[in-house]
Amino acid sequence: MSALAKNYNRKNIAFKKGKGSFLYSTNGNKYLDFVQGIAVNSLGHANPFLIKAINKQAKKLWHVSNAFIIPEGEKLAKRLVKKTFADFVIFQNSGTEATEAAIKVARRFFYSIGKPKKNRILCIKNSFHGRTLAAIYASGSKKMTEGFGPKVDGFDHFEFGNHKELKKSITKRTAAIMVETIMGEGGIKVIPDWCLRELRKICNKKKILLILDEVQCGIGRSGNFFAFEKSKVKPDIVPIAKGIGGGFPLGAVLMNKKVASGMIAGTHGSTFGGNPLAMSVGNAVLDQIFKKGFLKNVQNLSGYFNYELNKIKKKFPKVIKEVRGVGFLIGLQLFNDQKKFIQKLMDNKLLTIRAAENVIRILPPLTVTKKEINLAIKIIKKVCASYK
Ligand SMILES: *Cc1c(COP(=O)(O)O)cnc(C)c1O
Repeated sequence: MSALAKNYNRKNIAFKKGKGSFLYSTNGNKYLDFVQGIAVNSLGHANPFLIKAINKQAKKLWHVSNAFIIPEGEKLAKRLVKKTFADFVIFQNSGTEATEAAIKVARRFFYSIGKPKKNRILCIKNSFHGRTLAAIYASGSKKMTEGFGPKVDGFDHFEFGNHKELKKSITKRTAAIMVETIMGEGGIKVIPDWCLRELRKICNKKKILLILDEVQCGIGRSGNFFAFEKSKVKPDIVPIAKGIGGGFPLGAVLMNKKVASGMIAGTHGSTFGGNPLAMSVGNAVLDQIFKKGFLKNVQNLSGYFNYELNKIKKKFPKVIKEVRGVGFLIGLQLFNDQKKFIQKLMDNKLLTIRAAENVIRILPPLTVTKKEINLAIKIIKKVCASYK
């Protein structure tokens, strides 16, 4: 019997090694892994560049604490700032810490300009910002918060797509709107570019901050470094995690100069956040993603994948309701419960993972090949055909 608490409903399978897009189970099977640790292993399993970077750093220095200057972190922060809207970065170890830090940065900004009562965050109902106490109450999900009272105050909610409700929910006390650019756990629901621009306009007009949670959709997964980039919108605060560590626990909150002014010495901290080991991996991930043509390739191959999935949808209109997503953040929405479908894909050696609204999430590594995509298409087709 497992000594692990029962807070997960795990599949009865374990893996002994991974390589690129594939996982090898302890009982001798090879799987095409289109989960990749839930959009974490952006460069696939056992990526030789990452192995080299972490080994090199591991022999030199693991941890020193933020009481001292960490050159690897200075470098990673500079690179993130150079490539994005941001002026400053705080490193964390996970997505939920990054969203918590984002909330703290927003509140602290208004406090620092003499508006301490402007501290409420407006979020989408049933969104996902992580599992710490503030993050679950930010999600506005009954399921995630049940039994964890007292309620963490300071969050208001509107329904995805309900613009009237959104505008009505902004009060004098609203400090920021925080949304996932693409809702991951919520079922790969994309906020269209025109909506992002509208959000920015509303925030400007009301003099509040825009927080775009890119923990799942960021770091190249959408085909751009950030999913909001093609909308040309500049957010104020962006939490990131998952893909930036390529499998090593790493999160961060990116922010512009204006809001960073509130985060003076002593306002936030993390023992592990930004340690040399994590920073060296983060830098190695960026080395790859910033390579010329890397994101273009993600755009091309994900475009091909999307096209083929839509062909499957047309061929099986009673099985697949919708193909959702951007880049390699893909959702196949079924008409019926998706659990059996996911199991059948797994029986055919393709790993995928669920999301809300009967959606199957398909998350290849950004390094996936066309041949591997074709293999996945073949398996998905076969499983669709079994429903006839
Ligand atoms: C996964 C996720 C988080 C939480 O990240 P953890 O590393 O699990 O804490 C937060 N926001 C979004 C959008 C996510 O997908």
